[in-house]
Amino acid sequence: MPELPEVETCRRALAPRLAGRTLTDAVTPWPRAAATPLVVTGRCIVRLDRRGKFLLLRLDRGWLVIHLRMTGRLVVVRELPPRTTAAFQLDGDEWFCLVDVRKFGRAWQVARASEVVGHLGPEPLSRHFTAARFSAMLAPRRARLKPLLLNQRFLAGLGNIYVDESLHAARIHPLRTANTLSTGEVRRLHRYIRTILRAAITEGGTTIQNFAGPDGKPGRFRSRLRVFRRSGEACGGCGTIIERSVVAQRGTHFCPHCQRL
Ligand SMILES: [Zn+2]
Repeated sequence: MPELPEVETCRRALAPRLAGRTLTDAVTPWPRAAATPLVVTGRCIVRLDRRGKFLLLRLDRGWLVIHLRMTGRLVVVRELPPRTTAAFQLDGDEWFCLVDVRKFGRAWQVARASEVVGHLGPEPLSRHFTAARFSAMLAPRRARLKPLLLNQRFLAGLGNIYVDESLHAARIHPLRTANTLSTGEVRRLHRYIRTILRAAITEGGTTIQNFAGPDGKPGRFRSRLRVFRRSGEACGGCGTIIERSVVAQRGTHFCPHCQRL
């Protein structure tokens, strides 16, 4: 599933191709891809933003919000590709398409982006997301860290890949209770969440199965994953075999030596 770095990769690749363009039509070969009616004819795309895993297109009036969910991809092309679920026609005879094998991706057209993304927790790469703020967020929570970090209302943008990688880099077990972290552990986790997200953006995201940016290229961060989908291999830090368990229905990868419970 595309997480923050993959959506940011899409935003960066699409922005120069979409900003300033006028939308001339919208079609939904898979009607459920439209979470709201899409009435875009004549609207101009002002800029592209991102909030968590949501791509936000600022229009001259209102917003288009897109979530890729499991397998959505975004492309700008002359003809609709197979498995297009929603598409926006651009001036100059191109289409901005949501192509989606599993069809869970959604598009909303709303007056205010907050109607869709208002529930999200802080943006992890924002300067407002400080270690002190993270500490204050964790302090009242008795949840286990893995499901808490996956909870978009708690912190926006992280999914299974980057939660497992951040916890391993910070040497914290995924089943630790949030309010038991020491100050040093909170600082480490805060630092690694941010450095890993930034590094993944630099590499164009991570491709596990089928993520590709709008240019069709897979993300290059996969080769830098230290634990995700590496169970059975040796931990790069200590040589212990990486384990996989299921936490909150999600496959969870960790080093039992570096990440003690
Ligand atoms: Zn280890």
